[in-house]
Amino acid sequence: KPVTHVIGQTKILGIINQKGGVGKSTTAVNLAAALGSAGKQVLLVDLDPQGNATSGLGIDKGEITRCIYDLLLNDTPLHEVIIPDVAPGLDLVPATINLAGAEVELVSEMARENRLKDTLGSLRGKYDYILIDCPPSLGLLTVNALVASDKLIIPIQCEFYALEGVTKLLDSMKRVKSRLNPSLDIFGILLTMYDGRTMLARQVAKEVRSFFGKQVFETIIPRTVKLSEAPSYGLPITEYDPHGRGAESYTALAKEVINRG
Ligand code: ADP
Repeated sequence: KPVTHVIGQTKILGIINQKGGVGKSTTAVNLAAALGSAGKQVLLVDLDPQGNATSGLGIDKGEITRCIYDLLLNDTPLHEVIIPDVAPGLDLVPATINLAGAEVELVSEMARENRLKDTLGSLRGKYDYILIDCPPSLGLLTVNALVASDKLIIPIQCEFYALEGVTKLLDSMKRVKSRLNPSLDIFGILLTMYDGRTMLARQVAKEVRSFFGKQVFETIIPRTVKLSEAPSYGLPITEYDPHGRGAESYTALAKEVINRG
């Protein structure tokens, strides 16, 4: 594939929160697409057995024969798994339900925590950003993502119990940091599904900002109907509703991510 610009240092960002339904996949798909639209070369790795990022980009999970599972457990070559150009500037490593077995099968493998890191290592220099959409658990797949990532993006839903479980996630991060990946750190905390009309959302946003300070992205992702509809059309928000608030916010987030250097 012709590269139209010089790729700088590849940044591998894990999008992680062991709570489900906080906007991980939505952020993975739409941030990846917005970075691609901003002229970056991006690879999105779907590491969630539900495969929501895969279907959200219009890939029929029933039609594909190879997925991230084959990279982790079958040593299948990358070029047989990567689906190129799912959106401008964006390639995808898809997930299928096969991945659900990986959590158990990895246990007996050598260097099981390093599988994803070793796989993605050969792609450094080929992409500006590699985003990993993590599963909603702290199991071996997530540990693989923590080992493979340079930094983490943690989406937090502006709802009750927003910070619940985050301490546990930070503990896992610290454990992996001290043993397996010394430079691992938070890249940014992202407030998602924000409804500014409710007092609760405003309070949660305030609480998260006072807890995490400057680590919180200035961009807040609003709750919008279009963002929840886009996956059923298999399109990122920048294509489904390019002029709406959802596209605007993920485009602003992409800019912030690029500027955080
Ligand atoms: P996770 O990957 O953390 O499980 P998802 O990104 O799949 O979370 O989001 C959970 C649900 O909420 C999905 O149905 C998704 O379409 C919806 N959703 C996510 N972000 C937004 C948003 N900003 N506005 C409206 N709906 C959203």
